[in-house]
Amino acid sequence: MGGITRRETLGLAAGAAGWSLVSALPAWAAESAPGFFRYEVGGLKVTAVSDGFFVRKPLDGFVTNAPVADVEATLAAQGMPAGEVTVPFTTLVVDDGKRVVLIDTGTGDMGPPTAGTWMANFRAAGYAPERVDAVVVSHFHGDHVNGLRLKDGTSVFPKAEVHVPAPEWDFWMSDDKMAAAPERAKGNFQNARRVFGPMAADVRRYTPGAEVVTGITSVAAHGHTPGHCAFVVGGKLLSLQDTTNHPALFATHPGWHVLFDMDAQAAETSRRRLLDMAAADKMRVSFYHAPFPATGTVERKGEGFRFVPA
Ligand SMILES: [Zn+2]
Repeated sequence: MGGITRRETLGLAAGAAGWSLVSALPAWAAESAPGFFRYEVGGLKVTAVSDGFFVRKPLDGFVTNAPVADVEATLAAQGMPAGEVTVPFTTLVVDDGKRVVLIDTGTGDMGPPTAGTWMANFRAAGYAPERVDAVVVSHFHGDHVNGLRLKDGTSVFPKAEVHVPAPEWDFWMSDDKMAAAPERAKGNFQNARRVFGPMAADVRRYTPGAEVVTGITSVAAHGHTPGHCAFVVGGKLLSLQDTTNHPALFATHPGWHVLFDMDAQAAETSRRRLLDMAAADKMRVSFYHAPFPATGTVERKGEGFRFVPA
């Protein structure tokens, strides 16, 4: 919301309970800046926080079931460079005026050189890691969980409850599953132990579909990983996480499979179901891997969907 709206809203004073939380913001915290972007859904203050991006180049192998020429044509048709794709990382901070909750955490200090901007942007938005009450995790890939723990072992959010999908925990923390995994996939299992091992006794495991914390309900969306979840925030915002990778490719072509989807067929089923729901219900959406601030709406277009940035 813009400055004028904010002043008008504050001028309305006590009656507008859902808005009064805005006054809890430090006076110096701007409404948005290049690395963070605030909006309101269902009485909750949502702040998109950028953690930078990675560049996939060349495109070979990125979409596992479409020719590179088709991928390049799809990018070009949307005004994007054809030989590469820039994939951003965008987390959400959900603030009800009492509690500060994160949805995913970014790459921490373990991402590519073009990432790792999360903490600076989070602080610029008026927050501090000590103020985080809860972290809600969508799945265990490093670009979503590495922000919980630095490379040197430091826990980043000292007083936060950590909530993870139960099937995600059961898969990645299973020694049997790790032993059975191909060598190239073992790193993800080891990283899950690095991040969650020291806090294992305190990690809370939620069932996909459950309300995780007040105002944030998980939506089962497995396929990308065995326990991958999306979220409905404030009853109105559908935060899709890795239901799609970059929407220019995978909302446009929901039948395309990104190489990171572990069960590509299940991921496609989840993707079609959630994009359908977002379009039919005209929900506000947020993507983890769309261009910042990664929020808008989704509409049906041809065989697929189109992401319409707000
Ligand atoms: Zn991801």
